[in-house]
Amino acid sequence: MHSTASDGRCSPSEVVAAVAREGLTGFALTDHDTGAGLAEARVAAAAAGLDLLPGVEISTTVAGSSVHLLGYGDITAHPALAPVLAATVGSRHTRVERLVERLAVDLPELTYRGVLARVPPGTTPGRPHVADELAAIGAVPNRDAAFAHYLAEGGPYYVGYESPETAEAVRLVLAAGGVPVLAHPASRSGAEVLDDDTIGELAELGLAGLEVDHRDHGPTARSRLRGLAAELGLLVTGSSDFHGEGRASGVGTDTTPPDTVEEIRSRLVPVA
Ligand code: AMP
Ligand code: ZN
Repeated sequence: MHSTASDGRCSPSEVVAAVAREGLTGFALTDHDTGAGLAEARVAAAAAGLDLLPGVEISTTVAGSSVHLLGYGDITAHPALAPVLAATVGSRHTRVERLVERLAVDLPELTYRGVLARVPPGTTPGRPHVADELAAIGAVPNRDAAFAHYLAEGGPYYVGYESPETAEAVRLVLAAGGVPVLAHPASRSGAEVLDDDTIGELAELGLAGLEVDHRDHGPTARSRLRGLAAELGLLVTGSSDFHGEGRASGVGTDTTPPDTVEEIRSRLVPVA
């Protein structure tokens, strides 16, 4: 799940409240390239009696295409990982500024200041923040329309950003004592670059699992990924990839079985 520490709409405490309302036993908070929401989530989860699995969703690339890697564990401050995440967040800031410059040519009411007001210090900026500002100036009705009309990867306004290769990020998550799991491997640009051989190579490097159950995956993708996970000895996870109330992805639309969560937890290496 995502919070206002990156591109989610709910604060970490509000995420906890949403999880409790849904009657789930726990959740993972995996904001993009930051662990800034974890401290608040930990306090709120403890108060609500919920099991919090900490983590981070790391921006990475395969052959230049965006691939998201989940790193489970409280790993974002580890010296192997922290500078890499900081560099990505820095590059994401520059990227949003350039993206706004391009959009403002056709949409002069869109300003970088307006977008930046949606990204408090310490927050990872992303296209969803630009989407919300596009909606606020009346250019689109909502986030989904903003992505469809203005923000799609490969579209005329799109700007990328620097991030590590997925294989390197797998190594860094392991070095930090975490558990690396490919997020939604058959969704969007990941679908184009994460073929069976590439996933096999990541498994050899120590990739631990595949997020099979995700709203972007249809039955065919899920059965392919489930088969591949069985073949490669990888864990199978699922999530709502929650970004906030009101979006299509409700809390708990896809879940990870408790024994898989425990298996992930058992593989975490406590950092001294
Ligand atoms: P970024 O990390 O800035 O490249 O933006 C990618 C994020 O935008 C993803 O984590 C998704 O949560 C979100 N996203 C991608 N495509 C869409 C879409 N079509 N509608 C709404 N949100 C999207
Ligand atoms: Zn993702």
